[in-house]
Amino acid sequence: MLSAWQDVLQRVETATKNAGRKAGSVRLIAVGKTFQAASLRALYACGQRDFGENYVQEFIGKHAELADCPEIVWHFIGPLQSNKTRPVAERAHWVHALDRLKIAERLSAQRPEPMPALNVCLQVNVSGEASKSGVAPGDVTALAQAVRGLPRLELRGLMAIPEPTPDAQKLAGQFALLGRLRDDLNREGFGLDTLSMGMSADLEPAIAAGATHVRVGTALFGARDYSNNGL
Ligand SMILES: *Cc1c(COP(=O)(O)O)cnc(C)c1O
Repeated sequence: MLSAWQDVLQRVETATKNAGRKAGSVRLIAVGKTFQAASLRALYACGQRDFGENYVQEFIGKHAELADCPEIVWHFIGPLQSNKTRPVAERAHWVHALDRLKIAERLSAQRPEPMPALNVCLQVNVSGEASKSGVAPGDVTALAQAVRGLPRLELRGLMAIPEPTPDAQKLAGQFALLGRLRDDLNREGFGLDTLSMGMSADLEPAIAAGATHVRVGTALFGARDYSNNGL
């Protein structure tokens, strides 16, 4: 586990350097879906602090089990249904896959007052596939404007899951699109500092295109077995 963590940190560091970017400008989010809280705890003991979860029930359980790890930063990275927003609003530091105003409104309304505003990223469909989640590139500005008006959310940036492809140029193009959309929004004064993109298989091209947060599961924890978690 420790060596897998060090390997991934090394990949991130090398990619950051190769892209001519400042050391430490990319955060590693350890994606623990289907893995036990004990595996996350082991990484926490190594020094990992950012953790990502996809499923609400699983997140609630791990959040409770790891309550004694006070420095964890929880990123909810999965799709969110409107009847499941409350436990996320009450527990997460970040939500990455926001693509509907209705969900954003609920998260803002349900964010407990003593907590800081919930950091959010808008998920953008950068692949053009009809089936994928994420807001269409042409609709990002309107959603960003609406989300910016919500008092208990802090709009931090954009997130994408590109279409997997062996075509390196096509992949790079999808990452580049997310970066351009963020730059467009910043020209309109949004001040976004986050690009959440890149996973185990493609963190290098994501970092080359400006990723600030990479979300990595398999390379840290191994292959997932979905029969383990009742999904
Ligand atoms: C599972 C997941 C990841 C991690 O994927 P790996 O290929 O295992 O690194 C990243 N982002 C999202 C949204 C995921 O659901």
